[in-house]
Amino acid sequence: MISVSVYGGTYHKEDWLKDHRLSSSFACATIAFFLYLCGGLAILIMSYQGENKVEVVYIPENEEPRPNSSLPSHYLWLAKRPIKTPKYWTKFDNSKRIDEWISENPSSLVHLVPASTKETSAIDKLVQRTWKEDLVGVGRDAKGIDPLVYKKLHVIKVERVENAPLFEKYAENRAKLFRKVGNGVLFNKLEQTVKAKRGKIITASEAILLRDVYPAVNEYYLFHGTPVEIVDAIVTQGLDARLNKRGMFGPAVYAAESSTKSDSYADSQQSRDIKSEKKMILLRMLLGEMFVLNSKEVFQRPPCKTCRNDRCSDRSHDQAGNWFYDSVVVDGPWNFREFLVYELNMCYPEYVITYKRI
Ligand SMILES: [Zn+2]
Repeated sequence: MISVSVYGGTYHKEDWLKDHRLSSSFACATIAFFLYLCGGLAILIMSYQGENKVEVVYIPENEEPRPNSSLPSHYLWLAKRPIKTPKYWTKFDNSKRIDEWISENPSSLVHLVPASTKETSAIDKLVQRTWKEDLVGVGRDAKGIDPLVYKKLHVIKVERVENAPLFEKYAENRAKLFRKVGNGVLFNKLEQTVKAKRGKIITASEAILLRDVYPAVNEYYLFHGTPVEIVDAIVTQGLDARLNKRGMFGPAVYAAESSTKSDSYADSQQSRDIKSEKKMILLRMLLGEMFVLNSKEVFQRPPCKTCRNDRCSDRSHDQAGNWFYDSVVVDGPWNFREFLVYELNMCYPEYVITYKRI
């Protein structure tokens, strides 16, 4: 019927049969294609409504990453994303990739810039809120402080360290942790760890300091105390655990959540003073998966997650590339909790705080 209405005219029997066959094939193909479209549409609707809902994450290149996302696919995207500087940096803004900044400005890659008023205020609050007046001068590392008699710290200024090559290395380590999260590894919060006695890390409070740290990989701001004369080396080179041979829990970079603890490292125990300006660093640290230590033990690196040995060579303990802890948290019978990373560039010295003891 279709052939007649389409072609019309007079046909010989053979021609009519030929055209009829052709048109029948055409009709069959049309119907099959229509059914195929309907089927595809039905499958699409079912896949969106059923349990096997397809999770599609598309985030444009220029969109800011969301530190609080809970989607694993978001972290796989973050792991692959070109590394940029934090958006609030001023010498290297994030319109370009960090490797572009580095290759275009090889002679000017480290800057110490005044922190914004909001950053300074938030960091001052952090110093004051984590200050433990009753613990000033208490403990082995605070020797010599007690005779000085001071009650608190007065923050004079805060500077931001914009060191592009150092931040790039730190961000590369962070990307490796993003990949772990993307592949389904869940990093416990410290307060979820049975062995952690003191609950949450107390530096994670000021909103402006949470804008670019990623809770999923346990990235935190923590204090690091150091003599004034070492600060320039830290700003330019970062912290290097290999230089710390005398650490009580091994050769690590040590950080604290209390400004009181870090203040005790601002000068040597033999020449403490209350007059001169002191400095302390506010680090970003990648704690990742934390091993919580309640007693005195020395590690050369974070231990194996299965046997708790830092020299483990048993490949059966390798859980899909997730063999060792990323950091050690000392939460024992000492006055302060301490946070240790053993590898290079697991922390970034982002702010230098200048203060006086008053
Ligand atoms: Zn092991």
